[in-house]
Amino acid sequence: MIIRNAACALPGQTELLRRDIKITDGRIVSIASGIDAAAGEEIIEAEGLEAWPGAIDPHVHFDEPGFTHREDFLHGSMAAARGGVTTVIDMPCTSLPPVTSAANLKTKLAAMGTHSVVDFGLFGGVSGHTLDQSVESGMAELAPDVLGFKCYLISGMETFTAVDFFGLSRAAAAAAGLGRPLLLHAEDPSYIKSATEWYKKLPEKLGRSESWSDYVESRPAGSELTAVAGAAAYAGQVGARRWLHIVHVGTAEAAELLAFLCRSDQAGAAATCETCPQYLIFSSDDFYAKGAALKTAPPVKPSGNAEQLWRLLADGTIAFVASDHAPAPVAEKNTGSLWKDYGGIPGSGTLFPLVYSEGWRKGRLDLPAFLRVTSGAAARRYGLAGCKGELEPGKHADIVLVNPDIEHVVRGEELLSKGTITPFEGMKLAGKVVRTLVRGKTVWDAANAVDRAEDGILAAAGWGKQLRWGDK
Ligand SMILES: [Zn+2]
Repeated sequence: MIIRNAACALPGQTELLRRDIKITDGRIVSIASGIDAAAGEEIIEAEGLEAWPGAIDPHVHFDEPGFTHREDFLHGSMAAARGGVTTVIDMPCTSLPPVTSAANLKTKLAAMGTHSVVDFGLFGGVSGHTLDQSVESGMAELAPDVLGFKCYLISGMETFTAVDFFGLSRAAAAAAGLGRPLLLHAEDPSYIKSATEWYKKLPEKLGRSESWSDYVESRPAGSELTAVAGAAAYAGQVGARRWLHIVHVGTAEAAELLAFLCRSDQAGAAATCETCPQYLIFSSDDFYAKGAALKTAPPVKPSGNAEQLWRLLADGTIAFVASDHAPAPVAEKNTGSLWKDYGGIPGSGTLFPLVYSEGWRKGRLDLPAFLRVTSGAAARRYGLAGCKGELEPGKHADIVLVNPDIEHVVRGEELLSKGTITPFEGMKLAGKVVRTLVRGKTVWDAANAVDRAEDGILAAAGWGKQLRWGDK
């Protein structure tokens, strides 16, 4: 197959270059001008389109098995494909059983292993429950099949509880020994637990109704700062800081603090962090207007923070973006109590379009930065750089074709996720993903989705394959 005359986003370049991409057996074999087609070879005419490396969404909750009323691998991966994501990495905590042992992983794979239309990796988990047993041996048996381990300093899940700093240091030491990143949800539980109790009672004390500001005040920027500082300190104590990765940083200062604490580490040996489009785009004022549709933990921060996050993304202080895709049905999003409303939003389908429109097209990210944050850096961080993350001969032909001249509007009903409530509803974005290829196969074609979005999915469930660390 040859993709003809696309404006290609190639590694090491500062602008898009018009090239042909030749694909054989699911891999890119050459990128050049005027590649001759063999007799009968399929040609995709891409005049006027851009070719980008398939985006990697390294933080999704596809909830299968156990919580598939919220999301499952088929719907989550269809949403991802529609939005230009060709690889997702799924969290261990929002499925039942959680991925904390090899036996649990086997159960999960039996339930979801053939449901994805895009390639996927899995994270293992370290929950407070598993700390009583030998967390080290549980992590060791999972390591060959997972791309990292996830833990929480504060968790709202009974099935996957938080660890304290001692548990974190044990998990970090074990992760370092196994050569896998340890991902951390970093908010300070001591502050948040007390503050939550206080702010829950406040409306009654003051004779007013609940306000989203109560939730925001219960999880302030300071709780991210103290958690990041403690994590960097205790991971450093066991020589494991380079394996520490802070997920969904919402506060720009927290990313800066992490970089500051790692300032004496050698290049490539520092802790990393990610942020999400919701933090790049919204402020707490938007949250007060949108309510549960934008409820996440941590919550979005006051105005000014988002623009600072873009700058930190552009200069590499923040390694990459992720969606933290975690939808829920309407009944769980709008319960009547803001404390009970499900915290989490669908995001895999809007990740690439939002960063493309608001980052690349608005000039906040140059080409190298855009490629790093949407695919390259996550591939390197999670052991996938041998096959994913760049348009380069030898790598998988994971390619997104974008029409830069079309503007499109985000509609939750069209996202293909099980969750339809999105805080990005109605946003007008520059450019549109018109076709997504995973290992050379078109999994999404917008031309087929004229009447119904699902008609644009051209791959059967199961096309997506599990990825392991070091895959080539
Ligand atoms: Zn998450």
